[in-house]
Amino acid sequence: MHRDKSVTTVLGHFIDGRHVAGGDRFQPIFDPATGLSSKSVALADKLTVEQAIASAQAAFPAWRNTPPLKRARVLSRMKTLLEENADKLCALITAEHGKVQSDAMGEIIRGIENVEFASYAPQLLKGEHSKNVGPAIDSWSEFQALGVCSGITPFNFPVMVSLWMWPMAVACGNTFVLKPAERTPSSTLFVAELALEAGLPPGVLNVVNGDKEAVDTLLTDSRVKAISFVGSTAIAEYIYSTGCAHGKRVQALGGAKNFAVVMPDADIPNAVSALMGAAYGSCGERCMAIPLVVAIGNEAGDAVVEGLKAEIAKMKVGPGSDDTNDMGPLVTRPHFEKVRSYVDAGVASGAKLVVDGRNVKVEGHEGGYYLGPCLFDHVTPEMSIYKDEIFGPVLGVIRAASLEEAMQMIDAHEYGNGTCIFTRDGEAARFFSDNIQVGMVGVNVPLPVPVAYHSFGGWKRSLFGDLHAYGPDSVRFYTKRKTITQRWPSAGIREGVMFSFPSNR
Ligand code: NAD
Repeated sequence: MHRDKSVTTVLGHFIDGRHVAGGDRFQPIFDPATGLSSKSVALADKLTVEQAIASAQAAFPAWRNTPPLKRARVLSRMKTLLEENADKLCALITAEHGKVQSDAMGEIIRGIENVEFASYAPQLLKGEHSKNVGPAIDSWSEFQALGVCSGITPFNFPVMVSLWMWPMAVACGNTFVLKPAERTPSSTLFVAELALEAGLPPGVLNVVNGDKEAVDTLLTDSRVKAISFVGSTAIAEYIYSTGCAHGKRVQALGGAKNFAVVMPDADIPNAVSALMGAAYGSCGERCMAIPLVVAIGNEAGDAVVEGLKAEIAKMKVGPGSDDTNDMGPLVTRPHFEKVRSYVDAGVASGAKLVVDGRNVKVEGHEGGYYLGPCLFDHVTPEMSIYKDEIFGPVLGVIRAASLEEAMQMIDAHEYGNGTCIFTRDGEAARFFSDNIQVGMVGVNVPLPVPVAYHSFGGWKRSLFGDLHAYGPDSVRFYTKRKTITQRWPSAGIREGVMFSFPSNR
């Protein structure tokens, strides 16, 4: 129970088109820029989550039978409302996550692109038809809604990641229960209000705030047919195994440790600029961030380290609400302490700390969770700063002798979310993208996050499940195929009794 007297706002849940309370446990929400808390969020108990599921279950029959074009029009209106309210959403994200507002706007725009793609669902749901598969027999496959679907999201993209999920799910005729991260619930609740304003009937999208109790209820309730999860690998694995054991369709996207390879022939200044944003943008709290660079040869390694050092010296760290800042604070104090302890561990393990961000102070914001950009050189595979996902502004440079050696390192790592190569050599780039064991690859593109009409997903321990998030895969994830074969007997082609298996013999 939160006992801070300064707390003025208590955030609840959004069920059946209304804000409701629910649960007698609460968690404070801190502004990472100041370390102060003026809000808390209710943690839903089992009963509250069951109310949300019941609301979604009740809304399903009518929504499933709503013509796809009418469902799509709601999403078109949703796109407009999100655009009109983007500034307010940015402020909500920054106040709880800490990221700078231009970065928050980037996630909102990428999220809106998912809403736009979901508004094309009538075209994507058209199915497949074959005439005369047998004598006067026609057959078609259609893609039917599953029922109640659920999404569980991480703190780092509170608007975008939830927009990967529910817009396509509802466009396909499903209803939805969304469980945002406890640390960043406000923007998600506001998006749910906008969805109602856009014309989504009450109960089609419900939001429950909460922790493990809420998630476990969603994982085990037989009315929930599918779960999309995005978060850390340990929880993704738990969600996947528990959800599957309860007969649900599950896609669980996990953590990452993405490598960039810099070839000796690369345009180094261009690579350095790209690496700066990829490593330190959003304070490194992105699953597609680049925390490791493998430089091929010492000449490239030295040039990259010198270039990064020079660019880091120009960076401005401070509250995300001031858009002249390049990097805001980390999300919470425990996360700040964890990231800082990785920097200590890197030093203790013998990596060379070229830039030390541990003593950054932001005037007037002494209670904020600020860690300056950190840069290590001579990182090696046995170090924890190499092995673990740190999720902070810590970039490590590794030296390798060849592209093959770099690729072996990347393939041996437990994660396989994203990677990129900087080079002018088309043959090397093609060899790299053909063979690397990673789900999303960039060539001179540091953050190869697929656009809304492709799908997003990593390999290895970065994704559990068969279908990737959003894009074409999401239409398949949120629907089940039904194949119907029909014949209308007519006098000319009446068949007698037949005991052999029907075929076109
Ligand atoms: P997290 O795993 O701590 O939390 C994610 C969600 O799981 C939250 O909604 C949380 O309430 C819930 N959860 C946490 N512990 C749980 C438990 N024991 N049982 C059931 N549910 C639980 O992740 P986070 O810290 O919010 O987000 C950062 C992580 O997300 C990073 O690892 C990052 O790489 C990953 N991420 C991955 C992608 C991707 O697309 N692969 C995208 C964004 C973030």
